Amino acid sequence: MTDQILLSPPDVGVLEETYLVEALRSGWVAPAGPSVTAFEQEIAERCGVAHAVATSSGTAALHLALMALGVGTGDLVAVPTLTFAATANAVAYTGAEPVFVDVDPHTGNIDPELLATLCTELERTGRRLGAVLPVDLYGRCADYDELLPLCDRYGVPVIEDAAEALGSTYRGRPAGSLGRAAVLSFNGNKIMTTSGGGMLLSDDAALADRCRYLSTQARQPVAHYEHVDIGYNYRLSNLLAALGRAQLQRLDGMIARRRTLRDGYAKLFAATDGVRLLGADDAGANCWLTSIVVDPTRTGWTAADLAGHLTGTSIETRPVFKPMHLQPVFAGARTTLSGVAQQLFEQGLTLPSGSALTDPAVRKVIDSITGFLEGRR
Ligand SMILES: *Cc1c(COP(=O)(O)O)cnc(C)c1O
Repeated sequence: MTDQILLSPPDVGVLEETYLVEALRSGWVAPAGPSVTAFEQEIAERCGVAHAVATSSGTAALHLALMALGVGTGDLVAVPTLTFAATANAVAYTGAEPVFVDVDPHTGNIDPELLATLCTELERTGRRLGAVLPVDLYGRCADYDELLPLCDRYGVPVIEDAAEALGSTYRGRPAGSLGRAAVLSFNGNKIMTTSGGGMLLSDDAALADRCRYLSTQARQPVAHYEHVDIGYNYRLSNLLAALGRAQLQRLDGMIARRRTLRDGYAKLFAATDGVRLLGADDAGANCWLTSIVVDPTRTGWTAADLAGHLTGTSIETRPVFKPMHLQPVFAGARTTLSGVAQQLFEQGLTLPSGSALTDPAVRKVIDSITGFLEGRR
């Protein structure tokens, strides 16, 4: 197992070590300090937003954004059904109810037409969404040219779940700048990592201030401990912020590496009828994860067949996210479905995409897939 090739392992080295040790020696071993402040400024600049609040996770940032926008019990929040559970869990934390909306077959991102249908249906019953939470799936931005005017028309705030999309752009605009608020994740498997962490982004100073306040136990600005709200312990450690600053310096290089891997997969499958890359024709994507979609009626083999072969050669793969509306925990949730997310789940396979993959590791993956394809021809 030791030389198993992993899907998206952390990519850290000497620079990260230097920054981390420096922060440790500075004495700021706390969820506050100069590295946190600098990291927030650098991320805000990178994402083209005025304010950033570093958090202990992306999930915490989602929770804060929803609370700051006043989402709570009795509200409905639209979430693409094809996402990681954190997006829907954060909605549940507030007491609101997620409504799972199906996705575009080409990108796997929330389908604006289905969202429009949902908004119209709710309007007919005198209801309105508390928020819409588009996810930039696997690093490709959702269709904001459609989503933002639509949400504007219904007066619904957009929270961009850009947890997977740091460094991506949408028509030249950075991921993280596309909604009223946005969320990043620095979990260990993401495009860059602080081992665990996240960030809340917004141009709205009052919203960012509210999130910062709630993330620090809702302490009033007085000498003694005074509280008028329930608060949360959601701040990022100064040590981890230092790690994040080192990673941010290397972000463009890590994105370029992931794009090279994606281009390699595109070339590898180009001649195979019935295999396509999920949403990969986007020069603005950060290429966080590359997934293929396999139509077994054309290939004669399934995504699971290829996964089995790769597992047999010590190469990690993963199915595309299991849709939220198919998760036991969300059984009975409201939905607006087309069947696309379920099909992507059944036919999709995510391939090793990490920037830390060495050339020999990449060659091993390519050779293994080539061997599989030749055997099936
Ligand atoms: C990773 C992820 C999150 C959660 O981020 P954490 O930092 O792991 O809490 C939220 N949404 C999506 C789409 C993610 O991929």
